[in-house]
Amino acid sequence: MSEKFEDLLERYAKVAGSEVIAQLKELGARLKGSRVVHVNSTAYGGGVAEILHCMIPLMQALGLEASWEVIQGTPEFFEVTKAFHHALQGHRVDLSEKDLALYEEINRREAERLEEKLRDADFVIIHDPQPAYLIKYFPNRKGYWIWRCHIDLSRPFYPVWRFLEKVIVRYDASIFSMPEFSQPLPHPQYIIPPSIDPLSEKNRDLTAEEIFKVYQQFGLDPSKPLVVQISRFDPFKDPLGVIKAAEMARKYVSFQLVLAGGGAADDPEGERVYQQVLKAAEGKEDIYVFKLPPTAHQTINALQRAADVVLQKSLREGFGLTVTEAMWKGKPVIGGATGGIRLQVVNHHTGFLVNTPEGAALRIRYLLFYEEKRREMGHKAREFVRQNFLITRHVRDYLSLMLSICM
Ligand code: UDP
Repeated sequence: MSEKFEDLLERYAKVAGSEVIAQLKELGARLKGSRVVHVNSTAYGGGVAEILHCMIPLMQALGLEASWEVIQGTPEFFEVTKAFHHALQGHRVDLSEKDLALYEEINRREAERLEEKLRDADFVIIHDPQPAYLIKYFPNRKGYWIWRCHIDLSRPFYPVWRFLEKVIVRYDASIFSMPEFSQPLPHPQYIIPPSIDPLSEKNRDLTAEEIFKVYQQFGLDPSKPLVVQISRFDPFKDPLGVIKAAEMARKYVSFQLVLAGGGAADDPEGERVYQQVLKAAEGKEDIYVFKLPPTAHQTINALQRAADVVLQKSLREGFGLTVTEAMWKGKPVIGGATGGIRLQVVNHHTGFLVNTPEGAALRIRYLLFYEEKRREMGHKAREFVRQNFLITRHVRDYLSLMLSICM
């Protein structure tokens, strides 16, 4: 094994434990040389890209020939797939025959472009609906194809799910983040929650100076408590509900609220929602709305570390990576009681689950009032992540799946 990979595994061992790495090496040895190709629709922004950035090198370090391909869509294609996303998370959407034909056509075109890479792969892992139809154009595929769904599919809008299901049934297996998201499908389904990379720029330890810089960067007051929500500007992340909650809590406790986030290449809706949020925050004291570039990993890290309380008040969420990121930094998280967040936040132990802006306001007030409680919950949160939501556990689950599927 190259020195670079040895060093990487060594660094993971320091955080996750050497027995975890020993187990990964054993699994990796049994899959040595396997060609694994992940396919998604954006190289940055959003949770999937975040995971793939660290999963590929870790799989490579374990002896697999892992790689990552990004399908190239058009703005119209991403409008359609964003509508899919909303529909699969339960919203009614209107899609025309023309929209569906465009979606299929881009998948056909991308299948042609990626033909050589996917044809001979041992395992192809297709993430989410955007590239799901690729499989249709590989009737003679050699390897195992797995559909990895990161979305809360518990109550899909059926006309759209039926359209996707036509090709999902062709896969050899599918992966969901929670049992509630699985669907009646004629192949094995695996439950694998996502994870974060403790070594990434987003999650590594920062020095006190590095954290402090973020106050200057954004003109924040270090002497005032800080409540933060990091998210793409997306209605499902409920930024307007967060502003409402902050306004209610503010009657009892003084603090600064930061809503920060950027876009993703496959999310055309960001700018519209950003403008709405700016408008809602206008004229309100101590509410800061920041647009971040896709490279703002250290800034996000510092904001999460500077925060006293982290919010992720989503209305739907497959799995909120931002929740796990904040918990890893020892922060109590107030999360929307939805989807994967219910798995991530242990209510009353590592944070609070809330259903309404009123609920969020109550918990903000409570946590800002009791410093000791914040510390205790934050400590439990970090350990909970170490046990359950690090990339090492995630890769172990993938390798086990690959072994079980080809046995
Ligand atoms: N993120 C980022 N920049 C942003 C907003 C989010 O890098 O402006 C990161 C965030 O830290 C997290 C991921 O993107 O790692 C978002 O994943 P999550 O599962 O929370 O939500 P998604 O965007 O996938 O719905």
